[in-house]
Amino acid sequence: MEAERTGRIYCANCIHCKLVPAPAGAGRYYLRVRCDAGKWRKKLGEEKQYKYCTVARRSIDECDRYEDMGDGPEFLRDLRVTLPAIDEVYSSPEPVSR
Ligand code: SF4
Repeated sequence: MEAERTGRIYCANCIHCKLVPAPAGAGRYYLRVRCDAGKWRKKLGEEKQYKYCTVARRSIDECDRYEDMGDGPEFLRDLRVTLPAIDEVYSSPEPVSR
């Protein structure tokens, strides 16, 4: 579904925003978020991933691949409350991707 919107889009509300583990060594991992629609890119074109603790800050004016998860504004509010404040290191088992 392609969505046209006015106002700010929060990637955390988009079905393409995925939580993924990133190796931290010794069987541990960080949590990262990626856009599986390929919209987050570094200057040279490779994929950019962001720290999970920053996901609520990922917003853009418009996106032709945005697909609302239908969670409503309370989702973002709850997410901001529950997000870790720093880039934490986790131990296995790895989390289930959403
Ligand atoms: S598709 Fe667009 S709105 Fe969705 S996560 Fe990617 S950049 Fe954000």
